[in-house]
Amino acid sequence: WGSLQNTSPFTHYSSAFETSAADNLNIATRLKQAIALEEFELWYQPIIDLSDGSVNGAEALIRWPQSDGSYIAPDKFIKIAEQSLLITKITQWVMSIVKDDIQLFNQSNLSLCVHLNLSVKDLQSPHLVDSINSIFSQWDWTNHALMLEVTESAMMTDVTRVKTTMAQIANTGLAFSIDDFGTGYSSLALLRDLPVNQIKIDRSFVSNILKSEDDLAIVKSTIYLAKNLGCNIVAEGVEDAQTGQLLKSLGCDHAQGYYYSKPLKIESFIEFAKSHRTVTQ
Ligand code: C2E
Ligand code: MG
Ligand code: MG
Ligand code: MG
Repeated sequence: WGSLQNTSPFTHYSSAFETSAADNLNIATRLKQAIALEEFELWYQPIIDLSDGSVNGAEALIRWPQSDGSYIAPDKFIKIAEQSLLITKITQWVMSIVKDDIQLFNQSNLSLCVHLNLSVKDLQSPHLVDSINSIFSQWDWTNHALMLEVTESAMMTDVTRVKTTMAQIANTGLAFSIDDFGTGYSSLALLRDLPVNQIKIDRSFVSNILKSEDDLAIVKSTIYLAKNLGCNIVAEGVEDAQTGQLLKSLGCDHAQGYYYSKPLKIESFIEFAKSHRTVTQ
């Protein structure tokens, strides 16, 4: 990894969006148009198998390009999309692109677990199960996996209903990952009661494990907890080799972060994944 060159163009996020109410309204209006015209891009960040350094999966991350070549960061527009319920349309777009992209990965003989992010509004929508079923109908889940990332706080919102929805989706063969684990009001009951296959420990804990004994203790305990619950674990936000090494020695399964690769456009991602295949195949 030491000589890894990042081949992706650096993402220049617009600084023009200081979010005032007027800007939000403006973004909402433009979002509607962007959805209709499918102006988004879906990028992929590799998820690394720490046991051999191969690419095991990828997280799909949305990008909204602007005419000046900059991008509006998802942190800026996803919240606005959630307020206006445009998010469910965005999620449908993401799912349909992911479906096509999985076919591209398969054509390159890459068997990857593709992750996509669900919003709390998706999880509460009565249409989520139907739209998953219709987009991925006739899909053969034995060749590949799709992982849905949901945050703790999203799972905690109307937990009874969420439980039913997640169970229905899990029955179709899809898996769930708890995103940003540790940052919400996480409840151990969630891990016990919901069909969760994976925990993604948040970058805010991972990034300081070389310096902070408390953060190290939290990461160690989370790995231990995940293992004992039969979940696999991904460390988010790994930015240097030593952190990756330490995580591996602690028994963490997977890692994601700028040290391995930033999110990439699909062509670059496929090249990256091809050059980091499982050694034992
Ligand atoms: P997330 O799901 O926790 O995604 C991980 C974020 O951390 C991504 O930011 C990724 O680029 C960034 N990241 C990964 N490795 C590193 C690292 O080593 N250092 C640092 N500093 N950052 C790293 P991004 O793409 O800007 O997305 C931000 C958030 O926006 C995501 O957080 C997710 O909550 C949301 N988001 C992105 N795409 C989608 C989408 O398609 N649908 C929904 N509902 N939300 C999305
Ligand atoms: Mg995520
Ligand atoms: Mg995350
Ligand atoms: Mg995060």
